Amino acid sequence: MTNKVLTCVGCPAGCRINVEMEGDEIRTITGNTCPVGEQYARQEAVCPMRILTSTVRITGCPYRVLPVTTDREIPLASVDEVMEIIRSTVVEAPVSFEQVLIENVLDTGANVIASKSMPAA
Ligand code: SF4
Repeated sequence: MTNKVLTCVGCPAGCRINVEMEGDEIRTITGNTCPVGEQYARQEAVCPMRILTSTVRITGCPYRVLPVTTDREIPLASVDEVMEIIRSTVVEAPVSFEQVLIENVLDTGANVIASKSMPAA
């Protein structure tokens, strides 16, 4: 039996949640004070997800990089591979806010989108 202690990010209360696991199976969840905390703990214990923010290189404008984000959470385990894809990506200005730059990155169902618009030089 293993024990994971999580801090719920569902609201500012930040409840400390204890998840007891046997292998990949959740046995008990305690410490949450609402159902949001239980849902968060289940996801975090089995397959943690994250929104990824980063930058890609951009050409054709005065700036060298463009801030980007995933438009939904991706598995934490995929972050390193997605970062490799982002690092190897170069986009050309102009780019509009929330423009899809990498569609369905690494088959996660998430797109990498522009966090700001960037006009051409
Ligand atoms: S368990 Fe509920 S009350 Fe506690 S931090 Fe999470 S969302 Fe907030």
